[in-house]
Amino acid sequence: MKAAAATAASVAVSVGIVLLLVPLLGGHPDGPGFWMSVLCPLVIAGPASAWQFQQSETIARQRDALALMHVKLESAHAELKDLHADLQVRARTDTLTGGLNRGAFFANLDVESRRNAGPVAILIADADHFKHVNDTFGHLVGDEALRRIGAAISRAIGERCWWGRIGGEEFVACLPGHDRAQALQVAERVRRSVASAILVSDNRPVPLSVSIGVACGHGPFEPVDLFRRADADLYSAKAGGRNRIVIDGREVNSAAA
Ligand code: GH3
Ligand code: MG
Ligand code: MG
Repeated sequence: MKAAAATAASVAVSVGIVLLLVPLLGGHPDGPGFWMSVLCPLVIAGPASAWQFQQSETIARQRDALALMHVKLESAHAELKDLHADLQVRARTDTLTGGLNRGAFFANLDVESRRNAGPVAILIADADHFKHVNDTFGHLVGDEALRRIGAAISRAIGERCWWGRIGGEEFVACLPGHDRAQALQVAERVRRSVASAILVSDNRPVPLSVSIGVACGHGPFEPVDLFRRADADLYSAKAGGRNRIVIDGREVNSAAA
């Protein structure tokens, strides 16, 4: 359409020029001369403008397609960014309980050990007689029990603290800014919350409790040293009868904590 209009305009201008200029130059605008002024623009301007308009339409279409691809690429990029962030969280999370996994917990502890300035404590909590829970009620109930323990720890700790599941039925919490008394209060909240959790399977209550070892430090600390002390206390708590807290080799009187 546009090409036809341009061709018609070219023919009109060409005929106009012939009709105006040829008489001025002393000639007659008729016969083959006149028809040449019609034919030349038809033969040259017709295909040329058709080609040019077709080219500009192709370029416009390609520009639109490119813009669309750009939008799609941006959205794919945003999606990839979200997926990457999601993967990073998943790689650090224990899928069963929602706490940190072992690797992420110790990586955090390593960072904290270098930057810690005040008091700090870690507590290790291990589910008591958990094999018996699994054997009696099944692994699915055992899994639910582990989720309850994780939730109890999550509720008991403060904002700056974090926790993770570092083994099958073994949990650790890091409590920056907590001195001995505050750490024992957290440990007691965890112990009591797990012991009083009501989990029922086949109309039978599932007995749940944790034994806890606590170790305290101050300023930059050696993660292995803190962990080893808490672990030794955890074993003392087991040996002492379970469902109890031990710190520095001594059992804590729950009522006082
Ligand atoms: P203790 O009081 O001395 O800690 O005894 P325990 O039975 O808890 O300790 P033991 O190490 O003998 O058994 C731990 C059990 O925890 C055995 C294993 O099947 C169970 N367990 C480990 N990981 C999981 C898990 O992800 N889900 C379930 N349901 N059970 C698990
Ligand atoms: Mg256990
Ligand atoms: Mg264990």
